[in-house]
Amino acid sequence: MKKAETSKWQISEEQRALLPSVSGNEINGLGETQHRLPDIVYWPNDSVNNAAQTQYENLPKASKHPYGPLVNFMRQRSAGTPIRKIYTDFENRAPKQLDDISSTVVDDTAENWTEKVKEFVLENEGNLVGVTALKSEWFYTSEETVDLPWVVVIGVSMDYEKMQHVPPTDEDLQSAIEVGEKYNQVDRAAGKLANWIRAQGWDAENQGGPNSGKMLLTPAALACGFGELGKHGSIINREFGSIIRLSCVRTSLPLVADDVDIFGADDFCTQCQVCSNACPVDAIASDKQMVRGEEKWYVNFDKCVPYFNENYACAICISVCPWSRPGVAPKMAEKMTRRKARKEQQ
Ligand code: SF4
Ligand code: SF4
Repeated sequence: MKKAETSKWQISEEQRALLPSVSGNEINGLGETQHRLPDIVYWPNDSVNNAAQTQYENLPKASKHPYGPLVNFMRQRSAGTPIRKIYTDFENRAPKQLDDISSTVVDDTAENWTEKVKEFVLENEGNLVGVTALKSEWFYTSEETVDLPWVVVIGVSMDYEKMQHVPPTDEDLQSAIEVGEKYNQVDRAAGKLANWIRAQGWDAENQGGPNSGKMLLTPAALACGFGELGKHGSIINREFGSIIRLSCVRTSLPLVADDVDIFGADDFCTQCQVCSNACPVDAIASDKQMVRGEEKWYVNFDKCVPYFNENYACAICISVCPWSRPGVAPKMAEKMTRRKARKEQQ
């Protein structure tokens, strides 16, 4: 990884002019002690990635969200690069329209369906899959909740070597290209699963990124056993570390929930400062913060986003995380699990 030019970095005048008056941390609920539904803070759903005929020229008009102009700024920055092609390659994403739900309902036990769903995902481009009961508290205030009891979360791992080329630059875009391709892959995987479930006569709807969709994916992924929240604000998984992308399928298919997977990543973060030291704009808090009634690791949105935007989505923090190094996460998870067990016995 190239050493980021840290303290010298300054937001461009062009981007500064687009900053909204409302803080992204305020939208996120930083400092709020009461639980409440989340608000979309970035990648609003009315922005252009949802449109089949994306016209970058129309971007400034594309979103009414306060951070819409910044999203558009970022997309315009990548308009002349190969990144644009990836994010507008709609053939390689989930279909915009899912198949009709079959009128013939296939019955099976929840245990068998869960096994079949997981097998299907792992055979259809997913690297991780988990199930949990769908919670209305994950839905954004602007979105309707859905009457579906289960959510299947899908994860796809990114290539570690490519992700060492961070932050992306005009000369070396391989990490940003990897991120885009994996967003498409994990979105495709969700689309395939949703259609497969619908072919069995059950309801299913998919959600992929980077647009916000109806709900937060990270809490659902944590609930279905993908791992723990890291200091960098992303999931740390016991197999793939921090470099994963997520999608989900909400469904009426009877399923069995997975357990959460607590193996000591959170404890590890209290002692580690690799991501906070590597962040060029000091956006990663060294202590947990109160956010909408929950104390957790938090990335300062207002510090991160301008750098993220001008540096093709950055990704330094997840790429430098020691858990992301191939082969390291399973050993670290084992060690931390043993340490945790010893502590609990004391
Ligand atoms: S993505 Fe944001 S938080 Fe992470 S290193 Fe880059 S600027 Fe810092
Ligand atoms: S780099 Fe260290 S502190 Fe940051 S998320 Fe990874 S383990 Fe936690």
